[in-house]
Amino acid sequence: MATQPLMNVFNRLSVAFERGEGSWLYDTDGNRYLDALCGIAVTGLGHAHPAVTRAISEQAGKLIHCSNLYTIPLQEELAERLTRISGMENVFFANSGAEANEAAIKLARRHGHARGIDTPTIIVMEQSFHGRTLATLSATGNRAVQQGFEPLVGGFVRVPFDDAEAVRQVASNNPNVVAVLVEPIQGEGGVHIPADDYLAQLRAICDEHQLLLMLDEVQTGNGRTGQFFAYQHTDILPDVVTTAKGLGNGFPIGACLARGAAAEVFMPGAHGTTFGGNPLACAVGIAVVDTIVQDGLCARAEALGKRICDGFRAEIGDAPFVREIRNKGLMIGIELTEAGTELAVLAKVKGVLLNITGGGHVIRMLPPLVMTDHEADLLVSTVSQLVRVYAGEELDTAPNP
Ligand SMILES: *Cc1c(COP(=O)(O)O)cnc(C)c1O
Repeated sequence: MATQPLMNVFNRLSVAFERGEGSWLYDTDGNRYLDALCGIAVTGLGHAHPAVTRAISEQAGKLIHCSNLYTIPLQEELAERLTRISGMENVFFANSGAEANEAAIKLARRHGHARGIDTPTIIVMEQSFHGRTLATLSATGNRAVQQGFEPLVGGFVRVPFDDAEAVRQVASNNPNVVAVLVEPIQGEGGVHIPADDYLAQLRAICDEHQLLLMLDEVQTGNGRTGQFFAYQHTDILPDVVTTAKGLGNGFPIGACLARGAAAEVFMPGAHGTTFGGNPLACAVGIAVVDTIVQDGLCARAEALGKRICDGFRAEIGDAPFVREIRNKGLMIGIELTEAGTELAVLAKVKGVLLNITGGGHVIRMLPPLVMTDHEADLLVSTVSQLVRVYAGEELDTAPNP
């Protein structure tokens, strides 16, 4: 018999949070922590944001769920906002990032079949992350995520990230290719930001070979990088966009957006969901989107990201163990020359929440878009000191900020 009531899939730190407020989380002993992780790019509006709390409580008192067998006006309202912001034409709502990507993968395959391609194939990237369902882990470029789950779902060809020429080669030589699925910035892979013209080059290749350009904005979307969607730093439009994490600020919701031919692929019965797009999830999504837009939080993310990274460059930019400090808005990575896995534990002791990705070499910070300048400066000074400690300098044992 198992000795623990939970399945053993997470390495958890020994802290339990009881409540949150803005950029702060409070544990069961009353200690507070500056939350620079946001539940992995989820709580972009911070904890207990009044607009989100209000949307949940008001809608929960009216109608939580009714089924997609009926008209759901709130779903249409959220879709109208998302399509207007994104330049896409329609939306399928799901409950998570993996499910949003499943919808995109199914859409691409069906699009291929409609064009007479019986074994449609999708180009995906090394070091990518697309989720934990069978299709999305098969698309993911990380063996650790796939290990032990073979046989994997077929129909994916992998190329290096930020290498448009590699995509061009596969697109030219493989007549079964129907789509390219890529994160505009790789998050789980270690905050990898491609060349400025990468997406434009992918767009051109997709146009030339009639492929769908499908962007996984599960982590980069909802204002995090300084634009609502990360591709909006460029002037291209993808054919398909998926998003999730920040869209519900912690309430589960995912979305797959499409335009042009991709928007015409699904017919009634082709795809579905019980929970996806229920009135409660959509009421929350509307509150989140409206807050991001009305409070100018995309511009705020851009400014905060600059402030934080300028701070890190001044404090530890020249340190020999810091290989690179990089960011797009509030997607921030500090790449170290050596693995720094224990830094997340040290940071927690100092009252800051962050995590380590990129094979243990990248400190990842995904702070809330509502962070104050003072909190941003505190993040910089605390993490800079930790990095110096990690590199062997003396530890300042002052307690939580
Ligand atoms: C987190 C993430 C996913 C998976 O989202 P879930 O909601 O955990 O299923 C997919 N793609 C990217 C880029 C992500 O960061």
